[in-house]
Amino acid sequence: MIQIVQHRHKCIGCNACVEAAPEYWKMSKADGKCYLKKAKQKGEYFMINAPDFALDENVQAAKNCPVRIITVKQL
Ligand code: SF4
Repeated sequence: MIQIVQHRHKCIGCNACVEAAPEYWKMSKADGKCYLKKAKQKGEYFMINAPDFALDENVQAAKNCPVRIITVKQL
């Protein structure tokens, strides 16, 4: 199991995470930022737990994020 966390407040809406892991990330038409699908909110942070096979693509999303607001860790 992995945990993916986004500090959404700082998102600049560049779409890089969506390109890396479209199963998990989507752009919001409402505010132009991306969101982590099915995530739970905790303050300014959004998080989900996902299966291990989602690790590589979400690590890539985190690396591609120009403002470094995505973290992925193994639980
Ligand atoms: S890569 Fe980062 S800044 Fe770009 S849309 Fe995703 S979370 Fe937002």
